[in-house]
Amino acid sequence: MSVLEKFSRKITETAKAAAKKSGDLVEVTKLNMSISAEEDKIKKTFAEIGKLVYERYNKGESVPEGIEGFCEKIKGYEENIKEMKEKIYTLKNIKICPSCNAELEINANFCSKCGMKQEKEKTEEEQEEEAPTNEKEQQ
Ligand SMILES: [Zn+2]
Repeated sequence: MSVLEKFSRKITETAKAAAKKSGDLVEVTKLNMSISAEEDKIKKTFAEIGKLVYERYNKGESVPEGIEGFCEKIKGYEENIKEMKEKIYTLKNIKICPSCNAELEINANFCSKCGMKQEKEKTEEEQEEEAPTNEKEQQ
């Protein structure tokens, strides 16, 4: 075998090894992606389990021991979200249709999306008039 032949064989072997190596790396990358996909599915399924348990908690049904605290936490987070959404509605001067959740102008009488008649927003005066007067009656 000539020096040139030896040299070219060596190059071919190196190229083959490199190709195998890069093929293996591609395979490893693919497998890692598949693992991530499975892990995502696990996370989503855990979330589904959590939702089911939380629904039971909300209906007043019994939940497994040690779970109540987590449900209370979620309840708190939901209340925070509700408060923040109400702040946004005030800032944007809108109200939400109780039937279809469409954003409506604060003075709208009917929903522009589903047509539901809207309760009039009470003024502070009207609310004061409706305030219970039991205290005065008792005194
Ligand atoms: Zn509506």
